[in-house]
Amino acid sequence: MLTTELSNGIAMPRLGFGVFQIPDLNLCEEAVISALTCGYRLLDTASAYENEAAVGRAILRSGVARKEIFLTTKLWVQDYGYESTKEAFYRSLERLQTDYLDLYLIHQPYSDIHGSWRAMEDLYREGVIKAIGVSNFSSAQLADLITFNHIAPMVNQVETHPFCQQNHAAEFMQQHHIAIEAWAPFAEGKNEIFTQPLLTTIAQRHQKTVAQVILRWLLQRNIVVIPKSVNPQRIAENFAVFDFSLTEQDMKEISTLDLGKPLIANHADPERIKFIGTRRFAT
Ligand code: NAP
Repeated sequence: MLTTELSNGIAMPRLGFGVFQIPDLNLCEEAVISALTCGYRLLDTASAYENEAAVGRAILRSGVARKEIFLTTKLWVQDYGYESTKEAFYRSLERLQTDYLDLYLIHQPYSDIHGSWRAMEDLYREGVIKAIGVSNFSSAQLADLITFNHIAPMVNQVETHPFCQQNHAAEFMQQHHIAIEAWAPFAEGKNEIFTQPLLTTIAQRHQKTVAQVILRWLLQRNIVVIPKSVNPQRIAENFAVFDFSLTEQDMKEISTLDLGKPLIANHADPERIKFIGTRRFAT
């Protein structure tokens, strides 16, 4: 398994499996089992996805040893702050039926992120989390967290796909030894990505699918990626990306698709911040 070495020396699988927008818990459980059977060893959930329990059941049912799996979940905004972060963390562990996490992320870059970060630093020092990180943080927000705390985030999970390539953000993260993890690698199907002409041409060149080309393009940029699917055939397709390479020319061509801004979630939009503040989940 191709891995990315985090700043604390932990090896994180470069390709994983995401479970956002699978509210049907049986479907989620089956999808995770399908992914683990295929060979995926990184799982990405969140308390806000309300399917941690299904992920926990799938891990137990899969027969794959817990220590072979790199398990990530995320803290939701309603639980930010020092004490409530610790409480939310232990509730996530209980739902996931595990006694540690490989990676815990602050899901959104608002509200009391410093209080939460200090709780996560303490949980990390206690050894119940192997790596700590954030999601949807801009370079300025990363700098804020780094400057006013002891431990720098090891991962930042951000929207990254051919239409939003995150080149500047990735440069900052690289300079600060923060691994970049791509969410929505397929732009959640937006902009007709699966039939985009340039990606289709490159896919035909390699006798691969557009989805496989996109994943390969991210892996070759040293970006961790977590595609989501509930379809066993597509789950397998998305894992079959280690038997070909994109050329420098392919990489250069794909770089022309960048629109330089998010397509799904603009975290700098004041309306979005207000919206996030209203979202409450059974965490
Ligand atoms: P995505 O992976 O970009 O796209 C998922 C969509 O693509 C689904 O509709 C899926 O349909 C389809 N699909 C998957 N494989 C395909 C293939 N080979 N061919 C054609 N269609 C395919 O979107 P995402 O789920 O939003 O992002 C991935 C993961 O990132 C999430 O599951 C979650 O873990 C994480 N995420 C994090 C954040 C954050 O704020 N941190 C936000 C969003 C997502 P089927 O299921 O029917 O195959």
